[in-house]
This record gives sequence, structure tokens and C-alpha cells, in this order.
Amino acid sequence: MIFWAEDIPAAPGRARGRLAPSPTGFLHLGNAWAFWMAWLDARSRGGECVLRFEDIDPARARPEYAEAVARDLAWLGLDWDYGPGAGNGKENPDIFLQSRRAARYRDALNFLRARGLVYPCYCTRKELRDIAGAPHVDDAGAPYPGTCRRLTDAEKKRLEAAGRSHSLRLLCPEKTPWRFTDALMGDREMTLEQCGGDFALRRSDGVFAYQLAVVVDDITMGVTTVVRGKDIQVSTPRQLYLYSLFGVTPPRYAHLPLVTDETGARLAKRHASLTLASLRDAGVWPETILGWLAAASGMRKEFAPLRAREAIKDFSFAAVGAENLRLPPDPAAFFLAAQR
Ligand code: GLU
Ligand code: ZN
Repeated sequence: MIFWAEDIPAAPGRARGRLAPSPTGFLHLGNAWAFWMAWLDARSRGGECVLRFEDIDPARARPEYAEAVARDLAWLGLDWDYGPGAGNGKENPDIFLQSRRAARYRDALNFLRARGLVYPCYCTRKELRDIAGAPHVDDAGAPYPGTCRRLTDAEKKRLEAAGRSHSLRLLCPEKTPWRFTDALMGDREMTLEQCGGDFALRRSDGVFAYQLAVVVDDITMGVTTVVRGKDIQVSTPRQLYLYSLFGVTPPRYAHLPLVTDETGARLAKRHASLTLASLRDAGVWPETILGWLAAASGMRKEFAPLRAREAIKDFSFAAVGAENLRLPPDPAAFFLAAQR
């Protein structure tokens, strides 16, 4: 067994959700949707919320974004019991920053290593990209074919001597089906092979991988429900496998439909005008945005201004449709017109 030091004291019998933004840019409408749902799910069950910044990638995360994200979440009307500025845990705000939690991730990695489940992978990005023609699931990319699974010590030495750096991968049972009941999508079943095969726990530059960090964090923060976009669903079987190795009961999951632009494309960096900051600057109110999200998702019959807390009382995932939420062509103009 691994000893898990609690970062947030457990609250037995009480739901605890989390908002886990990556501070790599400004929040957009898709983030607003996912975080509002995570918050509503927790609050509607009388539960707590944790705000945690997934700033693990030093090349992409910036403290300015973390500040902007917290401001935007508060502007939407969301709050949190644990996290920067929440009062609780103020004595050690670092626990809410993945960039400060390497010691935790190292302990977990060492536990898996001691069980012989971790191996170095020397494949370059290019080699991995060239694994052509392989079938792949959304976002998981081509499945890793296990090239480095059986390298001999001599081969490893030769690769090291040639100056190759290595990531660390987890040995995965490829054919085992992982089942979970999604609060939104119902019963799901996927194998790890469908989700990309042996996945990385630490990158070749020493940065811990999202999969490991998120599971360690959710365990040590006592998170009981994970609500996030369905684009991350391929990560769930990997995370379930980690929970099983750690001997911890996994949280309940809900994977949400996504917000798209008028062409059906998922929101990304290029949709700069759809950040909450730019909509706010244009004069759009948070109630307008939430009202639109509620109507577009099926939670409300009509598009009318709605405050974050007004949706707590009758919240249920059953009311949320499976279809993505498609924005009109000029969302800012559309929202402003609705406010007149
Ligand atoms: N940090 C991720 C994101 O902002 C969320 C990961 C998760 O919810 O597990 O997309
Ligand atoms: Zn490899």
C-alpha cells in the first residue's frame, strides 16, 4: 500500500468536486460550461469545491493566467471552499498548484516502479508520430505499440550513450475492459489499447504527466466527483487503472458535451474573441452566458438570463443533452442583442 498524506481533510459522506483549470490561457465559453457544471454538481448535492491549477507544464502555464482564471470564475458566480483565496488552506497555497507538488508525484511514481510497472521509453516524438496507420481514438493519438517494453539493459545503455533521453511509461494490460458509469453518458467500457496503450507517467524533460498528477491530486484532495469535457474521456480508463494500482476507489465521473463554434469546431486558442475576458470587455453579462449555456444544453427551455446559483436547486445531469453546444456565428453580438 501507498501512504497518502491528505492535502485536504476528507469530509466523509459529503460530495467534493473540483475545478481543475490549466492556466495556459484565458478561460473561454467551453471552460465556463465545464466549470459551471462541475460546480453545480457539487453544490446541488450540498458538496464542496476545490480549485486546483494544473500548471504542471512549465513551458505553457503562467501565473498571470492563473490569476485571470480565478477572476473569471468568480465573475461567473462560482466559488470554492479550498483553493487560492478560499481561506481554508491559506497557510499553504502551494498545495493547489501542480507545479509545487512534484514530491507527491514522485512518491506515486516510485510506488509503481517498485512494482515493476514502469519502464523507460526512448522513442523520439518523430518516431511516435511515424507510427502510422494505427487506428486511434479521439485525442489519445496513435496507440503506443510498446516498442521499448522489452529493451535489454545493453540496449538501454546504448541509447543513453547516444544521448537519448527517456520518458517513463506505465505497463498497461491492453485488452482488459475498464467499465465505469458516467453520470451523463451512462455505462462506458473501453480498453487501454483503445485509449493509447502504455501511457507516460513522466515526460523525457522530467515533467510529470497529467494522468499521474490528476489521479494523485484527486486522491489526496478527497475528490469524489470529476466533471469534465468528453474530450478527456479517453483518459478515464487510464486513470481508473491508476486508481486500481493505488488501491483507491475512483471518483464518480461525468463527461460533458463540448461547446463549439458555429461550424462545430471545438473552441481553441484561435477563438480569442470567445474568452470570458473579451466577452466581459464587450459588455456581455455572466448571466447572459450562463443563460445561453443552460438553453443550448437543454437544461432550460428558453434562453433567459440566469445566475450561477439559480440553477443549483433543480440541477440534474439528466436534463443535459448529449449534443455539443453550438454557438451562433458572432456570439458577442448575439449575447449583446439578447441583453437589450
Ligand atoms: N486541466 C484540464 C483542463 O483544463 C482538466 C483535467 C481534468 O478535469 O481532469 O482541461
Ligand atoms: Zn519507446
